[in-house]
Amino acid sequence: MNYDVIIIGAGPGGIFSAYEFAKKSDLKVAVLETGNVLEKRHCPIDGKKIKTCIGCSPCSIMNGFGGAGAFSDGKYNITNDFGGNLYEYIGKEKALELMHYVDEINTSHGGEGTAMYSTAGTELKKRCMQNKLTLLDASVRHLGTDINYIVLGNLYNELKDKVDFYFNTPAKSIKVTEEGYSIDTDSGVFTGRQCIVSVGRSGSKWLEEMCRELDINTKSNRVDIGVRVEIPAEIFASITDELYESKIVYRTEKFEDSVRTFCMNPYGIVVNENTNGIITVNGHSFEDPAKRTANTNFALLVSKHFSEPFKESNAYGESIARLSNMLGGGVIVQRFGDLERGRRSTPKRIEEGTVRPTLAATPGDLSLVLPKRILDGIVEMIYALDKIAPGTANDDTLLYGVEVKFYNMEVELDHNLETRYPGLYMIGDGCGVTHSLSHASASGVYVADRIMNNR
Ligand SMILES: Cc1cc2nc3c(=O)[nH]c(=O)nc-3n(C[C@H](O)[C@H](O)[C@H](O)COP(=O)(O)OP(=O)(O)OC[C@H]3O[C@@H](n4cnc5c(N)ncnc54)[C@H](O)[C@@H]3O)c2cc1C
Repeated sequence: MNYDVIIIGAGPGGIFSAYEFAKKSDLKVAVLETGNVLEKRHCPIDGKKIKTCIGCSPCSIMNGFGGAGAFSDGKYNITNDFGGNLYEYIGKEKALELMHYVDEINTSHGGEGTAMYSTAGTELKKRCMQNKLTLLDASVRHLGTDINYIVLGNLYNELKDKVDFYFNTPAKSIKVTEEGYSIDTDSGVFTGRQCIVSVGRSGSKWLEEMCRELDINTKSNRVDIGVRVEIPAEIFASITDELYESKIVYRTEKFEDSVRTFCMNPYGIVVNENTNGIITVNGHSFEDPAKRTANTNFALLVSKHFSEPFKESNAYGESIARLSNMLGGGVIVQRFGDLERGRRSTPKRIEEGTVRPTLAATPGDLSLVLPKRILDGIVEMIYALDKIAPGTANDDTLLYGVEVKFYNMEVELDHNLETRYPGLYMIGDGCGVTHSLSHASASGVYVADRIMNNR
């Protein structure tokens, strides 16, 4: 079990590192993965016998070949404007070049024929500009859940004879040795001259522990807090029909804070999300026309960056979510008109409204939950969106709270994504550099190329 390179984690970051080594070198490479091979990844929730998460270990949704995105919609956003900070390390041009390279690999492994959307030159971009809103630039390859799965299967078939995959083999510790690194697992000790850690969100807590043991600096200073907006689909149709997903940013007049849209779900539903026992809100949409609803939902989020000495940004987000759980027993829903009139929503007021909620949340008052500055920003943004999609600021628009987007801690890395230990690299979502498929994949390519060029 002695290798040139050990990759920990077989998500997009790890897969694309392995792909580069297999294609361009004769290095002996092992990939250690907590979860299963792709075809054995099955979530037991069937909606009948098992309706909710029963806490499988490992979780088939988050762990296994393909990582967290294996059953996702497979939206590869090619942009430096969102999806991670890879460009801060390797430069904007390089980051984009690698995201396009990843796209070429995906489209030559089953993704050919899938749609690529672009914000450039769209009518929406012009309308946003005219109304003090910014539509972030991106090209989006939309593989879709089914093709994403096919691409992953094809990549695995190509790699499996060139790289040694060890599934159901979580790395337990990383030790620095004279020859490189030794990784302890239940199946024995693996050694490698170089080690790439790509453990994603699910491995972030473990990675934090490893960083502590290895005395590698980390920081955790960002959390995004906001609400999910639900409106009749017709109101947003001019936006959602033109672009599959648009990220729109508004800079508030009062505090000059940025408020942004996130995760648009045309004709979708609002859902509860359980994070460590705290109920927050999220949204889904469906490919199947039969499952569509009359509403569109999207999040409006405000980023909160904390400075020293506060380091518990995620705990701050959890506390706010806990407040809504305390008042509403879970997620709170409020009509925009009630919020503006300074009164709580009641079941009767929701019932009398024209927007039918797709989530059974508790009618209440979000101004008792969200910090004033965040709420003011959200209200300003709703009025700004009303200019490009009239009706967004209607009294009956529903706001669900709270939505929280937690971020992984950020590991201190140099511009090559190398830690203070030569040959120990960290990539992807787990170390806070990325939070998307395309950025994570590109970070994997970058580090593999760097290792090969340094031989
Ligand atoms: C439901 C869902 C839908 C998504 N949809 C999109 C989308 O459409 N577009 C987009 O850009 N992003 C999407 N994302 C986010 C995207 O999936 C992630 O940004 C991306 O997968 C990150 O890649 P990664 O390689 O860094 O980590 P991951 O994909 O999380 O992979 C990490 C892997 O490491 C393994 N691992 C963890 N700890 C250990 C350990 N100690 N030892 C061995 N292995 C370990 C895990 O099992 C996992 O397989 C989605 C995420 C989810 C959950």
